[in-house]
Amino acid sequence: QFPFGRRLPCDIYWHGVSFHDNNIFSGQVNKFPGMMETVRKITLSRAMRTMQDLFPLEYNFYPRSWILPEELPLFVAEVRMMKDSNPSWKPTFIVKPDGGCQGDGIYLIKDPSDIRLTGSIQSRPAVVQEYICKPLLVDKLKFDIRLYVLLKSLEPLEIYIAKDGLSRFCTEPYQEPTLKNLHQVFMHLTNYSLNIHSGNFIHSDSVNTGSKRTFSSILCRLSSRGADVKKLWSDIISLVIKTIIALTPELKVYYQSDIPAGKPGPTCFQILGFDILLMKNLKPILLEVNANPSMRIEHEQELSPGVYENVPSPVDEEVKVAVIRDTLRLVDPQKKKKKDTQAMWLTEHPGDEYFCVCTKGMKDKQHKHHSLKLSLKLKFYLKLDSCQSVEVSEELPDTAPGPEAALPSLCLKQVFPKYAKQFSYLRLVDRVAALFIRFLGVKGTTKLGPTGFRTFIRNCKLSNSNFSMAAVDILYIDITRRWNSMGIDHKESGMCLQAFVEAFFCLAQRKYKSRPLHDQVASLIELCECRLAALHGKRLV
Ligand code: ADP
Repeated sequence: QFPFGRRLPCDIYWHGVSFHDNNIFSGQVNKFPGMMETVRKITLSRAMRTMQDLFPLEYNFYPRSWILPEELPLFVAEVRMMKDSNPSWKPTFIVKPDGGCQGDGIYLIKDPSDIRLTGSIQSRPAVVQEYICKPLLVDKLKFDIRLYVLLKSLEPLEIYIAKDGLSRFCTEPYQEPTLKNLHQVFMHLTNYSLNIHSGNFIHSDSVNTGSKRTFSSILCRLSSRGADVKKLWSDIISLVIKTIIALTPELKVYYQSDIPAGKPGPTCFQILGFDILLMKNLKPILLEVNANPSMRIEHEQELSPGVYENVPSPVDEEVKVAVIRDTLRLVDPQKKKKKDTQAMWLTEHPGDEYFCVCTKGMKDKQHKHHSLKLSLKLKFYLKLDSCQSVEVSEELPDTAPGPEAALPSLCLKQVFPKYAKQFSYLRLVDRVAALFIRFLGVKGTTKLGPTGFRTFIRNCKLSNSNFSMAAVDILYIDITRRWNSMGIDHKESGMCLQAFVEAFFCLAQRKYKSRPLHDQVASLIELCECRLAALHGKRLV
C-alpha cells in the first residue's frame, strides 16, 4: 500500500482484484488482463465446449453444460433425446448463475421444466450442468478439492501446481439426489461459505480432521485404502493443463489488447484456484476456476451470539502460506535479472555456436574445464566474468545462496513446459487465436471488424468460386450478430474470438468434408499458416 503515492516503479505489484487495479508499465503484476472474464462460469463453459467439440475424450472431465437462457431449447431437446435413448437414465442437473460464487443462487433440478424462469434468468444468465451424483465420500461426506495453480507466464506457457491443497467438506451425510433432498445444501454443496453456517461444521486444528482438511491428508487415507494415488495426481495434472490450454486463447486476446507487443508494459502471473470434485471411481471433475481464490489464513469464530473473532486456521495457513511464498520465489526479480543477463549475452553474441569455459555444475560433476558448443536453446545460467568467458551451471549459482537457502523446498511443481510434448496437439485454438490477433489490426481491440475478416480470407486464399467474398461477408454478419446478441460484451462491436473460432470451424468443415473436426481444423490452420508465411516471404523479397 502506498497511500501517499509512489514515484518509483515496483518490481512486483500485488493487486487485490484485477489487472486494472493500477496503471502499471513495468515490473510484474499478479493478475492477467481478462482473467476474471475468462473464468466466469459461462465463458469457461464455452471454452470447454469448444475443446469438447474438438477432443471429446480428452475433455470429458468437465460436466456437460448448457448456457441459459439462450440454450434452454437445446438443453430441453438434448435431455429428451438422451432419456429416449436410455430410459433408465435418471439425471440431476445443477443450475449456477453466471458470475456467482460461494454457492450463491445455485439449485438442483431433476427435469429441465424445473428451471426457474421467473425474472432472474433473463437478467442473470446461468449455466446448467449435469450433476455428478456419485462423488467420492470420506466419512460419508461429500467434499471437493481446492488446488492452487500458478500461471507464471502465458507466452511461453508456464504452469505450476501446488503439491497440497484444501478439501472442503459438506456437513450433512451424502445421499444421491432425490426430489426430497434436492434442496439440502449442506448435503450437496461443498462451499465453505455455506457449510460454515451449519451447526455441524467442525473447525479443527488438525489438518486431517474437521470440515476443512489438507488434500494430502485425504490422499494418505486413500493410499492406505489401496487407491492408486499416483494415477490420481497424474489425472489432476492433466486436468489442470488441459483447462489452461482451453483458457489461453481468450487470455492472449486480452493480453495483446492491454499490453501491446513492442510497447513497455508489465509481465503477468496469477494464482488460480481450481475446484475439483472426485468421483467414486477417483476420476477428477473440474467444477470451476477462480481468478481470485481466497488467501485468508484465519476464520471467524462466534464467541458469543453475534460476537465474532478472527482466529488462525492452521489448515489454511499450511497450504496458502507456501503457495504465496513460492510464487514470490518463482517470480523473484533477482532471478529474472540473472536470466536477462543471459539473454543479453546471447543477443550480443549472435551466431549459432560459440565456445565457453565451463567450471561447475555440469552432469559429470568433475571440476575440470570443458570446451562446450552451446546453442541458443541453452537453458543454463550464464555469468559473464571479466575475460568474457561464461560460467555455466545447471542450477542457480551457489555462490550467493541468500535467504533462499533457509526456505523449505518449493511446494509449486512445474507441470508445463515439463509435460508440454504430451499436450501440444491440443493447442489448436491457440493457433486460431494467433491468426485472429494477427488480423485485429489496430492495437488495443479484442474484436475483428469486417475488413479484418475479409483480409484474413483473402491473405489465406480461402475464397474461391464456391465460396465468394459475398458469402464471406454473410458468414461474418451471421456469426457476429448471433454472438453479439448473446450480450456479454457490448463495449466493442465486431467479431469476438469465440465467434471467429466458430467461423473458422465452419470454414474447416466446408473445406475438409467427412473428417473428424480436430483434423479439419488442424488442416485449415496449417494451410493458413503456410499461406501467410509465403505471403510474408514475398513481401520481404
Ligand atoms: P460457486 O462459484 O458458487 O462456488 P461452484 O461451481 O463451485 O459455484 O458450485 C458450488 C458447489 O456445488 C461446488 O463446490 C460443488 O460442491 C457443487 N457442484 C457444482 N457443480 C457440480 C456438479 N456438476 N456436480 C456435483 N456437484 C457440483
